[in-house]
Amino acid sequence: MKFAVRLLNIAIICAAIPLFASAGPDGELTKRTRYLMDTYCSVLAPVKGDQKITAALDLALDRVEELDKKFSAFRPGSPVYEFNKNGTPITDPETLGLVKRCLDMNQQSGGAFDITVTPLVKLWGFYGEIPKVPMIPSKEAIAAAQKMIGPGSIELKNGKLIKLRSSAEIDLGAGAKAYAVGEAMKSLKKSGVRSAMVDLGGDLYAIGLYNGKPWKAGIKNPRGEGALGILGMTELSMSTSGDYERYYEIEGKRYCHVIDPLKGAPASELISVAVLTPDATMANLLSTSVFVLGREKGLKLLKKYPGAEAIIIGADGGISLTDGLTKLFSLKEKGGKQ
Ligand code: ADP
Ligand code: MG
Repeated sequence: MKFAVRLLNIAIICAAIPLFASAGPDGELTKRTRYLMDTYCSVLAPVKGDQKITAALDLALDRVEELDKKFSAFRPGSPVYEFNKNGTPITDPETLGLVKRCLDMNQQSGGAFDITVTPLVKLWGFYGEIPKVPMIPSKEAIAAAQKMIGPGSIELKNGKLIKLRSSAEIDLGAGAKAYAVGEAMKSLKKSGVRSAMVDLGGDLYAIGLYNGKPWKAGIKNPRGEGALGILGMTELSMSTSGDYERYYEIEGKRYCHVIDPLKGAPASELISVAVLTPDATMANLLSTSVFVLGREKGLKLLKKYPGAEAIIIGADGGISLTDGLTKLFSLKEKGGKQ
């Protein structure tokens, strides 16, 4: 894989948004939306005169709702909540499957991806509501929180996840949404839908074609004008990690909700990472890991995953595109033509 690195002289923030052309041969889209996993989840498919499509879309949303209940760290009774608050071992196979993938990514990323990062998330004020007057924690407090985390604080064995340290908590925030996107798409396929887009708060998955072309997603530039570029997506998911939704600033420096466990502080080298792969969960595990690792180490990690493509935007305005992405993505400089 080769990488093209371009430097833009503007600060760019990247967010994924599905874009839909006006009606073509496939007709209008049917769209169903529910507020799930703390964001809006939309599923869309071309109508083609088939009334069953709405039922299929609703079924896909039901599946996301089921996963929202299961993976929430804030909903009493969920396996994750009961594990965190009461130390109840997790035995639900689906939750364990996601935990296992997260633990594997912890190893692959050299500890950058860590579902036990909660003590640091709390310390920096990103657990629940962001504090109105945020403060940088002391070095001592950071060191103490770092001692509490790490994959050694939990154990997954014989179909059970248990705590090895009573203070351990798990946070599936960086995998649950993308997993749900993948499951929604599975549900749509099972219902016989051949062309659809799932959008869960900007985590996307597209299958088939719409009006004979891949589905389009815009990488928008909310601090500048227009879009940074447009992506064509089919049989592909996209997950993003960024510093633009949950953050605060202290003395002009931005602190965001993705934490580097090794530094014990918010990751700050990058402002946005979008990863594309047909495996939705992998897309998010990678986008969070790359966001923490930074450009150079992040690109090294991506090389281990053939088929994974990424757009990496640094705080310095530098944009890296993996080689395979140049076919899918058209980059537009400020003021340039699409
Ligand atoms: P975004 O919220 O921008 O989409 P992500 O998809 O990477 O970003 O998800 C961020 C969430 O991941 C955080 O809200 C937190 O729950 C969790 N998290 C933060 N730091 C880490 C980390 N180092 N490893 C794993 N999960 C993390
Ligand atoms: Mg994300």
